[in-house]
Formats: sequence, C-alpha cells, structure tokens
Amino acid sequence: MRTLTGKELAAAIRAQTEAEAAAGPQPRLAVVVATDDEASLWYVRSIAKAAAGVGIACDIVDLGPEAAPERIGETLTRLSADANVHGLMLQTPLPAGASAQRLAAAIDPRKDVDGANPLSLGRLAAGLPAFPPATAAAVMALLDHYEVELEGRRAVVVGRSTVVGKPLAHLLLDRHATVTVCHSRTRDLASVTSAAEVLVAAVGRAGLIGAGHVAPGAVVIDVGTNPTDDGGLVGDVDFDAVSQVAGALTPVPGGVGPVTTALLLRHTARAANLP
Ligand code: NAP
Repeated sequence: MRTLTGKELAAAIRAQTEAEAAAGPQPRLAVVVATDDEASLWYVRSIAKAAAGVGIACDIVDLGPEAAPERIGETLTRLSADANVHGLMLQTPLPAGASAQRLAAAIDPRKDVDGANPLSLGRLAAGLPAFPPATAAAVMALLDHYEVELEGRRAVVVGRSTVVGKPLAHLLLDRHATVTVCHSRTRDLASVTSAAEVLVAAVGRAGLIGAGHVAPGAVVIDVGTNPTDDGGLVGDVDFDAVSQVAGALTPVPGGVGPVTTALLLRHTARAANLP
C-alpha cells in the first residue's frame, strides 16, 4: 500500500507560489473571521504564517464572534472593492444567523480564492474558469501528483457539501471520471464505495470508511478531519484497516491538509496576476 503524503507536494506548490508572488506586486490575502472557535482561529493563523513564508501579505480581519451578518457582508463588499486586496476568504464557523453561502456572494469572484461564492461553483460546473475551493483542488492536485489515472475510471465521492463534495464531483467529471456522489441518505454505502477505483471521503466522521467499504487496490483520499480526545486528528477512513485493502491512501494529518493551504496561497498569487 502506498501512502500518499501531501507534505512534499505542498512544499513544491509553495516554492512555485513564492516565485509567482515575487514576479509582480506583492499579493495580499484578506481573511474575514467572526468566531472564537479555537480550531478555526488556529487554521487562520497557520494560513497567515504560510502566506508570510511565500511573500504573500495576509490580513486577518477579526470582527469578533458577535458580529452581525450585515457587518460581515459590508466588510466583504469593502474588501472586494479594495484594489490592494487580491484574495478574499470568509472563515467559518460564523455567528448564529449568518449564512456563509449568502455572505460569500459578496466576494468578488476574481478574488474568491477559496471558491466560496456560489458563482464560482456555477462556473466550475459549467466548465468555465473559476477558483475551486482549495480543498477540492487539493484532492485533484494529490491525484495528479501521484499520477492516478482518472479518465474512464469509477470515482466515488462521499459527502456533497458545497465546499468539498460538490465541487470535487465536477472537477472529477471534467477529467472524465465516472462520478458517483454519496451522502447521508445513501443506502448501503459500502456497496457503492466498494465499486470505486478512486474513493474520496469528505464527511467528518471518524472511521466511517472501513475495509469493507474499499475495493482491493483502490486509491483512497481522506479529506475528513476529526479531532480526537487526546488533541490529535483523524480522518474519515480507518487508516489501519483500509491500508490492508487499498492500493494507496492519504494520511490524516499530512495528506490533503497541507496541500489545501498551499493551494489557497497559489490561488492568491494567481488572483494578483489576473489581467
Ligand atoms: P459537511 O458540510 O458537514 O458535509 C458532510 C457531508 O457528509 C454531507 O454531504 C453529508 O450528507 C455527508 N454525510 C454525513 N454523514 C454521512 C454518512 N453517514 N454517510 C455518508 N455521507 C454522510 O462537511 P464538509 O465541510 O464537506 O467537510 C467534510 C470533512 O472534511 C470534515 O471532516 C471537514 O473537517 C473536512 N475538511 C477538511 C479540509 C482539509 O483541508 N483537509 C478542508 C475542509 C473540510 P448530507 O448532505 O446528506 O447531510
């Protein structure tokens, strides 16, 4: 079984991004935050640190956990219009009553480096240029890095969120895979997933995918990130069990995660260089 780590690929993307960022005016990413969720704040700080490492400026615009949806919307509109900001993202979770999808419509699609504006998803579905959500793009980047053949192959995505499952299904379809999307109402999940040659789990349930869900030799990408009681992180895939069956599997942590952050920065550098 091959372990598909993301660290080496993430480092290569960061090096390339650093060169792209240095070639023009300094790219600037703004991250709007309205939460006191520690995991979320940790993630935002890690983005800012990674940005600094590749020469991208990163502003964390913290509106506090009590911010009204109107204020978040106005902030996104203002930053969308700010010529000094090239990439813009809205971090979740949001205060009660604020809808990420509704608010993300205020992000200029040209600055929508995490593919959150519904227009970006629509363009993606239509095969038009758009920034895909960084996580969905990271799955594709890993598959390409490890030269996983997609054309004509059966790909199953478990999870249909607008941030991961749906955009990923479109990206796989664009690459001529035969795509099936599963969700919480899917009957007999194992019978569907065990037909997959390429299986992606993006659910948020530790151990959901066991050995009985996976065909011998399948390539399995684990997007899930589930905190453990001892402060660690596990995916949706039971790594030990599935590694006995799969041909290749991404670890958690160290698989999709680092590539996601690197691609967010690449998208920002590209947004800064859009004509
Ligand atoms: P989400 O919005 O909660 O969506 C979860 C999806 O899983 C839904 O479509 C849901 O179905 C489906 N689901 C729930 N229980 C299921 C079950 N028993 N069987 C089959 N499908 C089931 O989550 P998300 O934002 O897409 O994130 C998914 C996971 O990826 C989370 O663990 C998240 O932390 C992780 N993540 C990782 C990264 C990274 O960079 N590594 C980035 C983003 C997210 P319904 O639609 O029917 O409810």
